[in-house]
Parts: sequence; structure tokens; C-alpha cells
Amino acid sequence: MNFTYLDYTNMIKNILNGGYDICNYENIRASKKGVVLRHDVDFDLKKALEMAKLEYSIGVSSTYFVLISTDFYNICSKKSVAILNEIIEMNHDIGLHFDEQRYEMETIIGMKKEVLKEVSIIQKIINKPIKTISMHRPSKLTLESNVHFEGLINSYSSYFFKDMKYISDSRMHWREDTEDVINCNNYNKIHILTHPFWYSNKIENTREKLTKFINEAKLSRYESMNLNFRDLDQYIHREEIY
Ligand SMILES: [Zn+2]
Repeated sequence: MNFTYLDYTNMIKNILNGGYDICNYENIRASKKGVVLRHDVDFDLKKALEMAKLEYSIGVSSTYFVLISTDFYNICSKKSVAILNEIIEMNHDIGLHFDEQRYEMETIIGMKKEVLKEVSIIQKIINKPIKTISMHRPSKLTLESNVHFEGLINSYSSYFFKDMKYISDSRMHWREDTEDVINCNNYNKIHILTHPFWYSNKIENTREKLTKFINEAKLSRYESMNLNFRDLDQYIHREEIY
């Protein structure tokens, strides 16, 4: 897997050829042989949109978990809401990506309160119910506690995290070969976490992807400034910031 869109497409085709249904968090239990596609959007909503379009073109749906407490993107902005709506229109789900480290929480009860607050915020923004949650930087306590959130499916609950075969591309690294896991026929249910951030048209290594993202931030900061500060180019031209 070279983390290109072609590789991702081939992985999905391999899943479908293996006789798996592509399920969501609600209907996976009813499936005899199914895969849940989970995407955590850690850094960039635009990459989530690219992935959502790709999946739509292949004819599969997945769940995009978005953060509301990150400095990387703002889901309240006009641009972000348009992206989220576009993702929803392509039959994908939006879930809450919850960053425990945003809060000083010592108990599960405390965490549940904050989760409910974040869920209600996203629901107001996208005008749709949020049905699923995944953790960003989960604590050991959360991973081990099989936490039940009222009205939400927890992607770290034991069914999804332990009963199903769980594989993830965290830090742009699959600990197991995805093809082997899909083709070995040992697993009736597979839960696949990918981060859209790592995928692109061209083959790029981790450093290249990170560098590109950091450098592009300069231009996007300029564009935001341009929308909010009249005659910005009298002071600094777009070409100067590369
Ligand atoms: Zn995350």
C-alpha cells in the first residue's frame, strides 16, 4: 500500500471481490460478512472530501469522524459546512471525533458530559443526528473501559475494536498487510480505520505529505486574510508568501 487513491480503490475492490458487504456502524451486526470503513479527520477536511468523492465514485459509503476542538479546521465555517454537506449528500455519515486531551477529565462520567455537548454542537451545525463516536488520542482508560455513550455507537466499544478484526493506518503505517487480512478469509467482520490525510494521487512519503500540508497552510492563511482584510495585496502579494 503506497497510500495513493489508486491503492485505496484497489483495497475497496479487493474487499468487494472477497464477498464482503460495505456496512456502516448500524447495519454491520446484521451482515454475515461485512466491512466498516472509518475515517478519522485529524488535520484536513478537504482531504476527507477527496476521499468521500473517491468512495462515491466506487459506490461505497463510510463514516467521517470530525473534530470540533482542533486548531486545524473549523467545522462552523461556511467552507467547512459546505464540505460536510457535500460528504453527507454522497451517502456518507458524519461522526464525532472526540479529543479527550482537550479536557481535564478524570472520570468516564465527566467525559460523557463533554461528548454530549460536542454531539449537540455538531448536530446543530450539520442539521442531522450524530450516531457514532471515535476517539482522537484515546486514553488507556477509554480503550479498556468499553464505554457506553447514550444514543451513540462507540467505535472503540469491544464489538468494533475487539470482536471485529480491526486494522488501522495510524501514522501512515499498517501494522498488518491489508491484502492479507482481507484475502485470508479468517475474518467475517473487518473494521478499517484510515486517515484521509495520508492519501494522494502521487506516491509521497510521510515527510513529503507533512511538509506539503504545512507549506500549504501559508497560502490558506493568506486567502483567509484576504477575505477579512481589505486590500491585503497592497501590503503583501500572494506570490511573496511561497
Ligand atoms: Zn484522530
